[in-house]
Amino acid sequence: MICKTCGDDMVGDGVTRVVHCPSVDCDDVEPDANPIHCGPVEKSQKVDQLTVALERTELRLRQAEQLNAHYKKAVERLESTLIAIRNLVGVRHVQGSANEKRVGTLDEQQVSGDVHEG
Ligand SMILES: [Zn+2]
Repeated sequence: MICKTCGDDMVGDGVTRVVHCPSVDCDDVEPDANPIHCGPVEKSQKVDQLTVALERTELRLRQAEQLNAHYKKAVERLESTLIAIRNLVGVRHVQGSANEKRVGTLDEQQVSGDVHEG
């Protein structure tokens, strides 16, 4: 249900608490009373609503920042994993090229001979 005055989502279930607009103070109203919509929006109420909206936005921003930090950590973990894998591959590559070099050095005369012949 939506407040027909301000369009905000109504709160309360009509059983434990009367259905009412969140900007209405209805602590002393019977739970099964008719839904209470807020009156014409006054300046102070508008400020209150904007303050609530601001708080909600700030909360969402904080949640987004937490998510961002979470993903940053995940990215950092992936990057360190990537570096570790690169190091492993690099070590293998260096070992491989060292072996190749050794082999190359051993077969160098043969290889250059082949090239000359070809
Ligand atoms: Zn309202």
